Amino acid sequence: MIHIVPSALIFGPLLDRSCTRRVIVHHSASPDVPAAVIHGWHLAKGWSGIGYHFVIRADGAIEAGRPIEKIGAHAGPGVNPDSIGICLTGNFMEQPPADQQLLALARLIDHLEVTCGAMLEVLRHKDVAATDCPGTFFPWPENNWPLERALTNEKDPGNALAPWKKSLVEEAAAKGIITGPHHPDDPAPKWFVLAVGLNIMKEMERHEAEK
Ligand SMILES: [Zn+2]
Repeated sequence: MIHIVPSALIFGPLLDRSCTRRVIVHHSASPDVPAAVIHGWHLAKGWSGIGYHFVIRADGAIEAGRPIEKIGAHAGPGVNPDSIGICLTGNFMEQPPADQQLLALARLIDHLEVTCGAMLEVLRHKDVAATDCPGTFFPWPENNWPLERALTNEKDPGNALAPWKKSLVEEAAAKGIITGPHHPDDPAPKWFVLAVGLNIMKEMERHEAEK
């Protein structure tokens, strides 16, 4: 499981995001700063608080930013309503991100895909807007990021998630058998087994009602 440092940030008004189909990757174009500092910058712009949903620090620590279910402020009004914004701290116009930052990004995206029960399109800010973000040093095997993610996972077998396990979780989420985030290697306590059983019954009742 990945660890996400929870946020204690106070936000102004935020809107719910109903649809999530892509992830937009950013750099902070700054030194390695905590999410709380970026929160301050964005509040100073008159925003409701940090515009990114996650901040990945130089040491690979993942910090929560704007609540995941709210619309972010990171890639413009045409993109924010259906995307999650992830910011890696550092200025990648000057140097590449640290390996542990990229590994954390790969893990976070895997985690988000399991949570959302769907594959997410992964784009750079510059793919959707006229900007250099996340910087020319950000590695992006042109449009082959999924391969890069697989390679990154391979380097860390402790975190590797076999594709068939991932498909199982995705299918179970799509069918309504599981609801929250699930790592397929986690043990299942009795409450979880009961919850899955009840979800299956609910799905069967729903199918019956539709007949
Ligand atoms: Zn950006």
